Amino acid sequence: MKAVRIHQFGGTDVLQYEDAPDPSPRKDQVLVRVRACAMNHLDVWVRKGLPKIQLPHIPGSDIAGEIVEVGEYVTGLRSGQRVLLAPMVFCNHCAQCTAGNHNLCRDFTVLGNLVDGGDCELIAISAVNVIPIPDSLGFAEAASVPLVFLTAFHMLTGRAALRPGNVVLVLGANSGVGIAAIQIAKLFNATVIATAGSDQKIERARGLGADYVINHYQQKISDEVRRITNKEGVDIVIEHVGVATWEESIKSLKPGGTLVTCGATTGFDARIDLRVLFARQLALLGSYMGTMFELNEVLKLVFSGKLKPVVDRTFPLKNVRAAHEYMEKSEMFGKIVLLP
Ligand SMILES: [Zn+2]
Repeated sequence: MKAVRIHQFGGTDVLQYEDAPDPSPRKDQVLVRVRACAMNHLDVWVRKGLPKIQLPHIPGSDIAGEIVEVGEYVTGLRSGQRVLLAPMVFCNHCAQCTAGNHNLCRDFTVLGNLVDGGDCELIAISAVNVIPIPDSLGFAEAASVPLVFLTAFHMLTGRAALRPGNVVLVLGANSGVGIAAIQIAKLFNATVIATAGSDQKIERARGLGADYVINHYQQKISDEVRRITNKEGVDIVIEHVGVATWEESIKSLKPGGTLVTCGATTGFDARIDLRVLFARQLALLGSYMGTMFELNEVLKLVFSGKLKPVVDRTFPLKNVRAAHEYMEKSEMFGKIVLLP
């Protein structure tokens, strides 16, 4: 098959579109022809080098395609079905997995991180990961869903315990997590304050339901939040930007508020004044992906049209270098999808 592989870590020139061995599925696995694989910032981190990745490596976490072969031990799935793949790998038999806390499993990893991903034509995957999709959902749209909608759903409902009517600040409305978080928060009738970096992105964020949008290049986020909330601050901040916005995110919280973070795109070495943490009784929570139950819950909302994936643009898989360069410019609104 054709695949994008990296044989060393580095710039976009390490992405090689080349022939790779076809995967041979186990009897408990399903072979899927990849029709679309959406990019995440993780693809860039993987390319630049993360610990424990074995080379050569195929990146790509968010996969949609068609089943071409079903292993002897697999029931309930058949060849030809249109599916998306849960973007994570877990042991499925430890205490955490059997309790449904898959993202706390010691073996937990994201597809395309410590195991080969979907920037290729064929992937062999455990049946538990394979989820049929409705005909109304195109492959590029389907691939744009799993990682970011699961992440945002776990952050808001699993970690921050979002309640109806909460005020939620969503950083980076144009990112996949931002797009998902705005829509999920609105399903809870939250008041959503989003941030974006251009007039066009601000318009798009409003279109997704954001009640207020702050231009994070021209306005000071915490000042605007204070003004919008009558000096109260927000209940929840959805963080994934990191160092560049961390201080403003903390300042935007109301006393007793919760900041939940799933990423550090602009850098991870953030600081906090511990006096602010205890005196204002803030909660700072980490979040990583989510559980299979949460994925199925959020997919129900996507399949019924209550939540909508946003595709920014697609690239043929062989143009993967251009896709990475485009992602690193951060000009997109929505997902960048590679088509094998
Ligand atoms: Zn486990």
